[in-house]
Amino acid sequence: MTFDQLGLIEPILKALQTEGYTEPTPIQEQSIPIVLQRKDLLGCAQTGTGKTAAFAIPVLQLLHEDRKAGNHNKGIKALILTPTRELAIQIDESFAAYGRHTGLKHTVIFGGVSQVPQVSTLKHGVDILIATPGRLLDLIEQQFINLSQLQIFVLDEADRMLDMGFIHDVKKVIAKIPAKRQTLFFSATMPPEIASLANTILKHPSKVEV
Ligand code: AMP
Repeated sequence: MTFDQLGLIEPILKALQTEGYTEPTPIQEQSIPIVLQRKDLLGCAQTGTGKTAAFAIPVLQLLHEDRKAGNHNKGIKALILTPTRELAIQIDESFAAYGRHTGLKHTVIFGGVSQVPQVSTLKHGVDILIATPGRLLDLIEQQFINLSQLQIFVLDEADRMLDMGFIHDVKKVIAKIPAKRQTLFFSATMPPEIASLANTILKHPSKVEV
């Protein structure tokens, strides 16, 4: 299997070549076609499996095609929620790498640092926002972030959100995003509370396990 056979567009194929990726990992091979069909996804995968690219690549492609089809609205179109600052930074770097030829704008926000530069970047408009839950809620409450244009919501490491005590914040975020959206839900394990959350927020999901 090659990335080309997964139906990826040239700007993304070119970036993957630059990264030195020759073939998709199993989670990528299974997830990318599902996401490109705009279906909800329940992915059971650990870090290290290529999970980030499994959602970042098709999200970039969907938004790039949307823009080419004439959608030039400036709102946040994809939100990636992840539990830690380190993961958030890594995901942002992945979007930078795979999206370098798409012209899509992305940024990352997390707590423990000044919000000023984050707010300043947000004011210029971003297509893709990567966030940890606390800082995201904080900036939503201060009305620096508007999620009314959101099309795609990615919940990364849901089980770790629970372990770290963020599940309540995650549910608060979900209550603030449009109901009509595509949701991609990733968790390494499926304890009952996480299975129940997945059940509540996903619509007819395709399941992928690696
Ligand atoms: P992740 O599971 O998303 O944390 O990714 C683990 C590592 O695998 C990262 O360093 C990626 O850059 C790398 N990676 C992801 N997909 C591929 C691929 N298809 N080929 C080679 N390396 C990859």
